[in-house]
Amino acid sequence: MKVKFKLLGTGAGPGTPSFFCDCPGCREARMKPAFSRTRSGALLLTEAGSILVDTSPDLRLQLVRERVTCVDTIFMTHWHYDHFGGLGELEYYSKLATKQCIPLYLPPSAESEFDRAFPHLREVFDVTPWSFDTTYSFGNAEITPLEACHGIETAGFLVESNGKRLAYFPDTAGLPETSARKVEGADWLICDATFYGDNWFPEAHMSIVQAIQLGQAVKACHTVLTHLSVHYSEPVVNGQLEEVVRRYAGVEIGYDGLEFEM
Ligand SMILES: [Zn+2]
Ligand SMILES: [Zn+2]
Repeated sequence: MKVKFKLLGTGAGPGTPSFFCDCPGCREARMKPAFSRTRSGALLLTEAGSILVDTSPDLRLQLVRERVTCVDTIFMTHWHYDHFGGLGELEYYSKLATKQCIPLYLPPSAESEFDRAFPHLREVFDVTPWSFDTTYSFGNAEITPLEACHGIETAGFLVESNGKRLAYFPDTAGLPETSARKVEGADWLICDATFYGDNWFPEAHMSIVQAIQLGQAVKACHTVLTHLSVHYSEPVVNGQLEEVVRRYAGVEIGYDGLEFEM
């Protein structure tokens, strides 16, 4: 069985369209739902089951849309609402469907945050802090948390299978040297490209051009842009995004449902 990595969501914190925004990007997404973006997350399908990477506030819609019927394990990149807000959706799954605890790997510093946010869900999740640079095996796939630069303790995940390497860094401002070395030459770098135009939050996120430059710096075969806001600084519609990306080889715009086979 081939391992698959699917983008469940590719939007920044407020999603696209944002209910409070009437910029050209949000207007376009209202008119053409294919251009809408749910909050960022991914699903890794291995022969040892399915691993959810982050649980966005849009999780239920994402799982229904992609016809996902089982979630075996969860890995969290970091404890920001747009990445953990949908965790509570899995209570019903655990209690009604599987009647089993779900293994939940999260940043060490997020364990106390989990207890504060979901004091009633210790019976649903088997909580284990992951460690940076430790490889976790799931059948024919391996997943390794690597350090990202995002203000709070945050990982990107390196996924390896069948000699292919995919690095998923939805929230990061560049990469620490150690992580950059580990993702060098990856087949896919799927990374934070929050801003079109000015990056007014350079400690936590990247712009589209910075993401493309990072892909070039680590010699990724393909750079896939995700965690896109269409309106944090300069609003942008899809045609303009495509125009920027066309100038570079090996760069793609991520979209909800995009899948990679490893
Ligand atoms: Zn974040
Ligand atoms: Zn985020």
